[in-house]
Amino acid sequence: MRLYNTSTKSLEEFKPKNPEEVKIYTCGPTVYSAPHIGNFSAYIYWDLLLRTLIANGFAPKRVLNLTDVGHLTSDGDTGEDKLEKGAKREGKTVWEIADYYIDLFKSGFKKLNLLEPYKWARATDYIEQSEDLVKKLIENGFAYETSDGVYFDTSKFSAYSDFAHLDLNHQKAGARVAFSSEKRNVSDFAVWKFIKEGENHAMRWDFLGRPGYPGWHLECSSIIHAELGEPIDIHTGGIDHIPVHHTNEIAQTFGAFGSELSKTWLHCNFITIDSEKISKSLGNIITLEDIEKKGYSTHDFKLWLYQGHYRKERNFTYEDLESARIRRLKWINFVLKNRQNNAIDTPRTPNFKSTLLENLNNDLNSAEAFAYIDQVAETINIEDWRDVSELFGLDLRLDDSMAPSKEDYALVEARSKAREEKNWPEADRIRDELASKNLTVLDTADGPLLQFLR
Ligand SMILES: [Zn+2]
Repeated sequence: MRLYNTSTKSLEEFKPKNPEEVKIYTCGPTVYSAPHIGNFSAYIYWDLLLRTLIANGFAPKRVLNLTDVGHLTSDGDTGEDKLEKGAKREGKTVWEIADYYIDLFKSGFKKLNLLEPYKWARATDYIEQSEDLVKKLIENGFAYETSDGVYFDTSKFSAYSDFAHLDLNHQKAGARVAFSSEKRNVSDFAVWKFIKEGENHAMRWDFLGRPGYPGWHLECSSIIHAELGEPIDIHTGGIDHIPVHHTNEIAQTFGAFGSELSKTWLHCNFITIDSEKISKSLGNIITLEDIEKKGYSTHDFKLWLYQGHYRKERNFTYEDLESARIRRLKWINFVLKNRQNNAIDTPRTPNFKSTLLENLNNDLNSAEAFAYIDQVAETINIEDWRDVSELFGLDLRLDDSMAPSKEDYALVEARSKAREEKNWPEADRIRDELASKNLTVLDTADGPLLQFLR
């Protein structure tokens, strides 16, 4: 299994330390607003990673964190805590906001049929561990206290700029204006923030003699230390995490424990919508619920995403989602026909699963795997389709108690004939008859496809 490792910038054979326990950490969402399809795309890509590992005989142990404190609006050390912002916006407490958006995120996870992590790790459940990490950083000389928080001294970690190939001199020149006089270096970052008198920050813990809260990057290092232990096998995140968040995670873990954080790093690219970045200010946010309201399944979105590659930027349009829906519907029609013909006697296609896996083992090349499925879709049997469903976590209606009967397919043919003859009343009558059986016909370039109405 070959994966592209961001830290070495190369496609490498993946070799976990212990195949029985492949340690994986995924940077999770900041739970203060409704997640959109761009947010979910990362978890959909990493689900394919997990399923591919499992198909290769590895046993992944994956931790996913939920950021419910400390993530400031700037992604750095300034601005408002996103949870506090959400609480103000909705007139709720920060805790209510966190609970609500954690539930919403988890329900999206379910809808998408993504594998549950071994542990959902909520940042505020690891405050003690985070405090211990800060203490260690201070003891080891990697962190120092200022009037507004504890900062990591990046000059003490000589490899600080390596991971993201940062040009720290350039950063210095550019940031002179915003440079806090108490920070030793421009790239130093807060591992703990103090709450000033009169400052409204509901989430607060007494530490170092003052109320405060952990810096955003800190939770990932402390959760990994508590739940998995360093170094882990794979760390995943978005490409936007490379220059700051992951660079800082690496620095903290080294400063506190003297160890490497992860052997392999995978980063996924962005989703744009109609060629624009997804953002509130542009008003182009699309959620899973929006997709469903338009009559699509969240699995259509998943299939659309897997038509591309995690390291490439993807542009979402409803036209492309429609073609993904038709592709899935075609596959479902093959499944339904297989079931309707009771085609269990059809032999399995030799090397079918291994060919799919070969593609996925090449840095999760799902697009190639899909092209292969299309090539052999007419001949593979129901068990082969079960492999497709399991490898991609796709709902292909394999276990649906309902399946169209031979009579239903005869009706579809009769309808096509009526349409050819322009006998519209008859075509409409058949459509209604199918609808009474919860079925509808979608006419595509490759012929009519049956689908369930519900
Ligand atoms: Zn993280």
